[in-house]
Amino acid sequence: MSFTVNKNDRLNVYVEDLTHDGSGVAKVDGYPLFIPGVLPGEEAEIQVMKTMKRYGFAKLINVTKESPDRVAPPCHVFWECGGCQLQHLSYEAQLRQKQKTVRDVMERIGKIPHVPVHPVKGMDDPWRYRNKSQIPFSERNGEVVSGFYRSRTHHIVDTDVCIIQGEEADEIMSTLKHEMHAMGIEAYDERTHRGMLRHLIVRKARATGELMVVLVTRSKKFPQKDAAIDLIKRVVPDVTSIMQNVNSEKTNVIFGNKTLLLYGKPFIVDTIGDIKFEISARSFYQVNSEQTEVLYGQALEYAQLTGTESVIDAYCGIGTISLFLAQNAQEVYGVEIVPQAIEDAKRNAELNGIDNAHFEAGPAEEVIPKWYAEGKRFDVLVVDPPRKGCDEKLLDTILEYKPKRIVYVSCDPATLARDLRILEDGGYLTQEVQPVDMFPQSSHVECVAWLELALSS
Ligand code: SAH
Repeated sequence: MSFTVNKNDRLNVYVEDLTHDGSGVAKVDGYPLFIPGVLPGEEAEIQVMKTMKRYGFAKLINVTKESPDRVAPPCHVFWECGGCQLQHLSYEAQLRQKQKTVRDVMERIGKIPHVPVHPVKGMDDPWRYRNKSQIPFSERNGEVVSGFYRSRTHHIVDTDVCIIQGEEADEIMSTLKHEMHAMGIEAYDERTHRGMLRHLIVRKARATGELMVVLVTRSKKFPQKDAAIDLIKRVVPDVTSIMQNVNSEKTNVIFGNKTLLLYGKPFIVDTIGDIKFEISARSFYQVNSEQTEVLYGQALEYAQLTGTESVIDAYCGIGTISLFLAQNAQEVYGVEIVPQAIEDAKRNAELNGIDNAHFEAGPAEEVIPKWYAEGKRFDVLVVDPPRKGCDEKLLDTILEYKPKRIVYVSCDPATLARDLRILEDGGYLTQEVQPVDMFPQSSHVECVAWLELALSS
């Protein structure tokens, strides 16, 4: 088979679509080319960089007809940094695009073209929304660099400002960067495995304003510890918690196993709705607090609890959704694979005086069949799996015992659509899908789907 498209060709193309990672898609005689930086509806001059059997990659030379939705990206490192993919698209258009992405996979993968996919619930102010920043530090030509990785690389794009993270994170990041050499602290060098500071993590509880700063160091011995504490207290005087995490391994993983308290409390407290949560350095916690309330509110609405139901929260993390549901249910059973998260969930239940939420550590696909085998029965099942979707064994269990209602919270529409197809084949009907924008400026989209068991099943 011979291609009409060859490497280095310069072509004029019409951009039809946007991929999940924010590249434009143009077809030349049916052959798809992926082109970063262009938007649907645009015409552009491009150069082909790489051709493969079914598709190729090209780079943008010049946009010849601009989309009315194109805007100037407000971040000065947007084109280099891998953190955001959509700053060049107006926020309204980002939301429309995400709705279309979800609709497309419901049709193509889920084979449920008629399911209502509602307009994406977005933010009024889609900036500075992240409550957690994880910032790598390194040395380059004798200077400290810190910022975010270029897409698919370990090259840090140096910056002092990131407008999707909190202002405190910017201030701590840039002050540390500019003053740490004078204090005698070297940044960690991945290649030589030398230097001290590997990562800075800043977490802020939106509801209470409590702030945690974590310094990840190569060794436990950190002679400039007191100076570092003083610097952080100078930048954020009412900081709640300063922690040191020790990571001595040659690894890409951010955290090591040892976490030490340097100043204040070892956790911060946040609230979502009426529920309080203690968050420690390593706890999983949704990064967009404002939209988390929207997401959980939607899950609760679809669960339609009256107070008499027995509910499962599968993939429950630190029990955030479980505790939300527990206020309106008879019993909630949460299951999660990370034992530390289950400890957090139990403590958080206690902290809120909630005694109808039960938690068990283990794989959902093993713990839930065990619950059923013990004779427990459930009216509603909530699942919130990682990107790869629900385990097949869990779907089998659902189809064997058939709870009346399922609420599926998903961070990947493609695996959601795949799992909805399996559940539909097993007798469920998908009622609605509500996308929620948890990550403005990025191409991610979160969804909540509501399914009911069909009457004949
Ligand atoms: N519902 C929580 C967490 C969702 S993230 C919240 O909103 O905060 C998905 C969670 O699934 C993670 O905490 C991950 O540790 C957990 N997980 C991954 N595989 C799992 C499995 N097989 N069984 C149970 N939990 C799993």
